[in-house]
Amino acid sequence: MVREATLVSQFSPEELAVLQDPRPHEFNPADDPYLKYSIQNFIDLLGCAQDRYAAVRENYLELHPGTPVLSYDQVKRRLRNLSGIVTWEDDMCVDGHIAFTGPYAKLERCPHPDCGEPRYDQKKLEASDGLLKVPRKVFTTFPVGPQVQARRQSPEMAEKMSYRWRKTQELLQERNGSGGVSDVYDDILSGEAYLTAVEDGSIGEHDTVLMLSIDGAQLYQNKQSDCWIYIWILLDLGPDERYKIRNILPGGVIPGPNAPGNIESFLFPGLSHLSALQKEGLRVWDAYHRKVIISVIFLLLVLADAVGMAEISGSVGHHGRKGCRLLCGLVGRNKERGSHYYPALQRPFGFETHRTSSHPDVDINSLPDASPAQYRQDLFDVITSRTKREYERRRFNAGIAKPSIFDGIPRTLGLPTCFAGDLMHQPVINMASLLFDLWCARPKIRSPDSSSSWPWAILTGDVWETHGKVVANVAKYLPTSFGRPPRNPQEKISSGYKAWEFLYYLYGEGPGVFYNLLPQPYYSHFCKLVRAIRIIYQRSVLGEQLLLANKLLLEWCFEFEELYCKRNPDRLHFVRQCVHSLTHLAKETHRLGPLSLSAQWTMERVIGILGSHLRQPSNPYANLTAQAQKMAHINAMVAMWPSFERKKDDPRGSIDLGGGYLLLGPKEDSYPHRTTPTEERALDVFCSGHQDSDDVDRKFIHRWGRLRLPTEQIARSRWKELERCSDMARTDRNVKV
Ligand SMILES: [Zn+2]
Ligand SMILES: [Zn+2]
Repeated sequence: MVREATLVSQFSPEELAVLQDPRPHEFNPADDPYLKYSIQNFIDLLGCAQDRYAAVRENYLELHPGTPVLSYDQVKRRLRNLSGIVTWEDDMCVDGHIAFTGPYAKLERCPHPDCGEPRYDQKKLEASDGLLKVPRKVFTTFPVGPQVQARRQSPEMAEKMSYRWRKTQELLQERNGSGGVSDVYDDILSGEAYLTAVEDGSIGEHDTVLMLSIDGAQLYQNKQSDCWIYIWILLDLGPDERYKIRNILPGGVIPGPNAPGNIESFLFPGLSHLSALQKEGLRVWDAYHRKVIISVIFLLLVLADAVGMAEISGSVGHHGRKGCRLLCGLVGRNKERGSHYYPALQRPFGFETHRTSSHPDVDINSLPDASPAQYRQDLFDVITSRTKREYERRRFNAGIAKPSIFDGIPRTLGLPTCFAGDLMHQPVINMASLLFDLWCARPKIRSPDSSSSWPWAILTGDVWETHGKVVANVAKYLPTSFGRPPRNPQEKISSGYKAWEFLYYLYGEGPGVFYNLLPQPYYSHFCKLVRAIRIIYQRSVLGEQLLLANKLLLEWCFEFEELYCKRNPDRLHFVRQCVHSLTHLAKETHRLGPLSLSAQWTMERVIGILGSHLRQPSNPYANLTAQAQKMAHINAMVAMWPSFERKKDDPRGSIDLGGGYLLLGPKEDSYPHRTTPTEERALDVFCSGHQDSDDVDRKFIHRWGRLRLPTEQIARSRWKELERCSDMARTDRNVKV
């Protein structure tokens, strides 16, 4: 059904006319001072309550009575019209089982066997003799077409959108010059998957390349407030632009509190629109090239957490016999009569005659890869099963439960290779959970094996408490450019410890804070993981570094079973999917470029920002939807008329030294500082060879407190630091030049 979608069926005739006839702007709203003032206030007061806007307007009107400053509702309406962004609402089951879309579009009750809840408000339906059909619950979709059009409406933004093609040309030249081997991976575009799609003609110059990212979010910590959001990320923009909140295209908001049962029915409106755009082509006014272009949207990757991924890829999920989320087909092992399979390579003792897991050890150096051809064959087998029994057997063997909705998307990498792993959940959140389960000997991992003999179970009692304090104390040595430091894990690890805290704690501080704590060989084993993950997390990865990371990761996985499991059938559950997922990281980097660029961190930030704008806890879902809608409008608006984006001025009193260096206060300007002989010599050395260096006074200087580097890090001078240094002040002298 997704494949058959058409644009005519998705828009009103007026909307369709606008969509299909893109033109340059006739006027710039920034030229109308009152409109500009109103919109600017609306944008600036985004995170504030609505009455803040009204108050600012009142104040202005008091000073300038009778001026046409827009009311909140007026400015909202103008934004919607100017941005051209369309919002769709579709009905859904009140308990979240399905959305009344696609195959369910005509139903009046939820088809879920345990549900049957009516779609419409029954009282209103009865009172109106069946005429008034008011849905009991709706979810929202922001179709991607108009949002993409907005991105090429201004010359500035359209120029930024041409990054992808410029970079592609460079990469292809390099590739042809070096015999097909890339030396450095510094963008998703430098990955094998994208470049091959360009070379085989699937992606062209004017096309638009997107990633879709979906995740669940809890809006308030202590309140049932789960919801699901999906966004589109534009790969046409450079990596320094594309993850900014302004350049994110909201896709849809699905209210909770129950997890969406049939997630595909919720994605249906957004994806069938994408499918229609792919078939019909999207006409776009490109203000940089000054012409209308036909842009075909290519969906490169789909990102989700493990649970969401199983749902949208149609796989059996991480408990299955073939439970790898990349559908590589590795066969796992289950405990006797257990339904949960683990991707253990080594055959546990006594498993020689195991009914489902007797297969011999799997060689870590010859693990399977996901194969689109195998996937097609397996899927065909599963869906052509004649009986329920046959279906269950084939599903078990293939690891696939059903076709994926993405099968209906004509222009994508193809299944299952469009589904990416996730560098935030797997090696960070899930791996931390596994390692701390082991090191703290938590009850859920202990049973039925006794923990008294576990040499690695070091984080218990007083040791754990002391260790927690050590981690909290590291904070002051982390430069502020690292963001917030991780909190005391002993106190906070089980109550909302964040993904980035685990990242810093485990992979940043880990080798230091576990030194002399984790016994050998467990410590060295852990350090292998840290070294490899640090490479994988690099913004730019060299080919040789990737080879090293691959070697370390494979060794780590093999040794994990050797060191921790020891072929003990009672420890089979140590080998979670996050262990196996590491074996894919290096190959996936080759395929998709640095994996941090396709991780769920962007989604995490979007959720954080939207959540921070919520004002009324009474109705979080409607509020969240309204925030996402404002985001879609404002983002499109700013893309079309970039002058609405406030440029951050350099701080007052700062001096731009050029080359990305900025001197920042405080400045010692009451009287100049008399340099010491050593300082004088250092200045001499520094100045020698520089033009006009004789003009520089080496004896008397004015000292500055801080210097902003081209990396945006702030270096602080020792002079000022010594004055302000308290015990817990963060040190900012460690910077990377
Ligand atoms: Zn239902
Ligand atoms: Zn796998």
